[in-house]
Parts: sequence; C-alpha cells; structure tokens
Amino acid sequence: MLKIENLHVRVAGKEILKGLSLTVNAGEVHAIMGPNGAGKSTLGNILAGREGYEVTQGSVEYFGKNLLELEPEERAAVGMFLAFQYPVEIPGVNNTYFLRAAFNAQRKKRGEEELDSMQFLKRVREKLKVLHLKDELLRRAVNEGFSGGEKKRNEIFQMAVLEPKLAVLDETDSGLDIDALKMVADGVNQLRSPDRAFIVITHYQRLLDYIVPDFVHVLADGKIVQSGDKTLALKLEEQGYAWLQQRKLADT
Ligand code: ADP
Ligand code: MG
Ligand code: MG
Repeated sequence: MLKIENLHVRVAGKEILKGLSLTVNAGEVHAIMGPNGAGKSTLGNILAGREGYEVTQGSVEYFGKNLLELEPEERAAVGMFLAFQYPVEIPGVNNTYFLRAAFNAQRKKRGEEELDSMQFLKRVREKLKVLHLKDELLRRAVNEGFSGGEKKRNEIFQMAVLEPKLAVLDETDSGLDIDALKMVADGVNQLRSPDRAFIVITHYQRLLDYIVPDFVHVLADGKIVQSGDKTLALKLEEQGYAWLQQRKLADT
C-alpha cells in the first residue's frame, strides 16, 4: 500500500528526514516512536502533503503511484486520512455539514455519487453507534470549544465516516488523558480491517497497550533505526532510547 524509500526531507533549510524507509501493507498497524525532534511529525506532514517540506531524495509510493505528486485533497480522495488535517475549529459550521462536504468531495473526485443529507445522516448515526459516541457531536460546530478529549473523539469520528484505506495518526497532544488514549485506541481497533492500514505516530507506550501494533519502528535522527514487534515498545518504555544511540556508536 505504502512504500517509502530512502526519503530525505528538508524543512526551513535543514535536513530533518535523512534516508527513511518504511513499507506498509494492507491490514497492518505500524507504530512510529522516537525521541522528541526525531522527525516523526515531519513524516506525518510529508504524507499529508503539507507545504514547506522539501523532498530532496527518495520516493513515496501509494498503491504504486507517486504520492508526492498528489495534492492533499487528491490524497484524501484515494483513501488517505491524516488525522491532524482537520483539528481546526470552524465556529458556526455544523460538524455534520462539514463532514458531509469533505465526504462528498472525496466521492466526487472518485467519480462516485454524492450522498444526500438523509443518506449521510444514516451513515453517521451508524458510525456514532459503533464508536459509542453521542448524537450531540453531530450538532456542534466543528471543534468549537471542544476539549482535547472531544477533539480526539471528533477526529476518530471523522476517520470512521471517511473510511480511509490508510490512516495516519500523529498523537502529538501531550495533554491527552487516559480516557482520550483509550478512545483513540478503541476507534482504531474498531476500524482495523484486512484492507485498511494505520500508521500511529506516538510517544506514548501506553497507547500501544490498547492498540496492539503489528510493527513498531523507532525513528531517531531522521531515519528508522530499529524495527520490531510490539515487544520493542515495551523495551523502549523500560530502557528509553539511549541503548539505540549506544548501538549506533558501536556500529560505527
Ligand atoms: P518529532 O515529531 O519527532 O518531535 P518533528 O518532525 O516535529 O519531530 O521535528 C523534527 C525537527 O524539525 C525538529 O528539530 C524541529 O525543530 C524541526 N522542524 C519541524 N518543522 C519545522 C518547521 N516548520 N520549521 C523549522 N523547523 C522545523
Ligand atoms: Mg515533537
Ligand atoms: Mg511530533
């Protein structure tokens, strides 16, 4: 589904990603961990197609196509969901209205029929039920006055409605409490399926107690320095990242 090879990315004149490679297949959940400043969010932003990130080397293929050529909306239309794309507050704009616009824009780009408001409402109600969310979420303005936890809830709700093929979640919000972490994890677990993949960027080992990843990768100094299964996350929790640096020194 996604194949990143030898990716080098420069931000504000500084090289941040320095040869990152990662392959993600359908059905897999990959966790990306790593010290602060390693480039985790930069990876997320590159996948999202944010401006200001210059790829100087390497490639990113998504279903065999060059992802880097696609505009952010085109990425959404081909099934990518970048959680942090929609955390903005849009006062006065009803959440359901906003989501339907996003949903239909994607369908239109794919040449599919748009859903009318009744059809869409039916769909969102089903999703609310699956995720155990309250109806109230539909009527509120997009993220307006939402607490950190409510924003998370809304993000997972958006993801459920848009039914992405590849969801990228960057859990940068250090204010997340345990309920919010569980909420994110439940949402991901509910949406796990053989044709859907997740990249969960996190520095919370705890999140991975709830989302059991198929693979854990450590991103340090702009590349993936170690990959393993879920036990790698436990090792990081116990020993921090220092042992990786020592290993690197030993290798040189
Ligand atoms: P992480 O998410 O792993 O903590 P980031 O990808 O956010 O790391 O940042 C990696 C490095 O890139 C940091 O040193 C950060 O200061 C720098 N960086 C990221 N975005 C920008 C930007 N827009 N302008 C300047 N420096 C940036
Ligand atoms: Mg950071
Ligand atoms: Mg970050």
